[in-house]
Amino acid sequence: MKAAFEGRGEMVLVTGGAGFIGSHLVDRLLAEGYSVRVIDDFSTGREANLAHLGQAARLEVMRGSVLDEALVAGAMHGVGLVFHLAAAVGVQHVVADPLWTLRTNTRGTELVLEQAFARGARVVFASTSEIYGVSEALPFREDGQRVLGPTWVHRWGYSTSKALDEHLCFAYAEHGLAMSIVRYFNVYGPRMDPAGYGSVIARFVSQALAGEPLTVHGDGRQTRCFTYVDEAVEATLRAGLQPAALGRAYNVGSPFEHDIRALAEAVLATTGSRSPIAHIPYEQAYGKGFEDTRRRVPAVERIATELGWRASIPLEEGLTRVLSAREAAGSGA
Ligand code: UDP
Repeated sequence: MKAAFEGRGEMVLVTGGAGFIGSHLVDRLLAEGYSVRVIDDFSTGREANLAHLGQAARLEVMRGSVLDEALVAGAMHGVGLVFHLAAAVGVQHVVADPLWTLRTNTRGTELVLEQAFARGARVVFASTSEIYGVSEALPFREDGQRVLGPTWVHRWGYSTSKALDEHLCFAYAEHGLAMSIVRYFNVYGPRMDPAGYGSVIARFVSQALAGEPLTVHGDGRQTRCFTYVDEAVEATLRAGLQPAALGRAYNVGSPFEHDIRALAEAVLATTGSRSPIAHIPYEQAYGKGFEDTRRRVPAVERIATELGWRASIPLEEGLTRVLSAREAAGSGA
């Protein structure tokens, strides 16, 4: 049975609902019996991500940007719960177009929060593990310090824009906005952009299937905790529905840490590819001054204790699912 919302209204709004995580969230909400409205400008979202839903009666798709105030205001009609996922995402996009990143992630979020607040809707804001930057206080705790580099390194603009959004959420909460924040840790799964913007896994799988070298940046000893999308969606839903989540920020991350070199080897094993592994310098990939997060590991206790959520799908299992979805979809998964 579907849960009722803390906010007023029956409809669920998913901004960025045609994106990778957003479309999986839409699937789940529809399966749970909710009516869903999507806003997406299809900049990184794709028609194909929602195509399997056809003309689903409980789904409404609005094409446009969260920077469009009239569109956002109109989209709030009858909405009790908002999942705000629309954003400029993916390190490669962020580095390539820093202004678009900052505008979308700051003005867009401000508009969504303003309109949700005006309508009395509850909000889940999709944040990121990037906000911890290069902190070495591992694992990253929700109440830990953030350590970022200089302002001319565009990567940190993404981190800062998402942190500003979190500040806005907490500030609105002071005025009564019912909100929760989820900080995603390297979410992966079917429907990632196959070009690999935003995910090393998508990139390695595409490279492996094409028989091209897998491009490992630097020494490949940097680590990430890859989180399977269905589990990230479950955590997101809990953040939107459970009373305990109100006013809280949560890491949504797997506890399993893998280095990138090992990931490349796991992708080769899963795909059966004979591609070589090629180490390339960071500068070649992201330009001068780029600084990577050496280890990124979430503290998982808060969300486990408060929302009863813990990631359990191992990387090898997730990779197998990604591959099956790609095979089923031809090349577009
Ligand atoms: N990475 C890599 N080769 C690639 C793309 C990414 O070695 O072709 C590395 C990247 O430098 C980082 C890690 O993989 O250390 C994760 O990158 P991704 O873009 O998936 O997400 P991030 O964690 O950097 O936001």
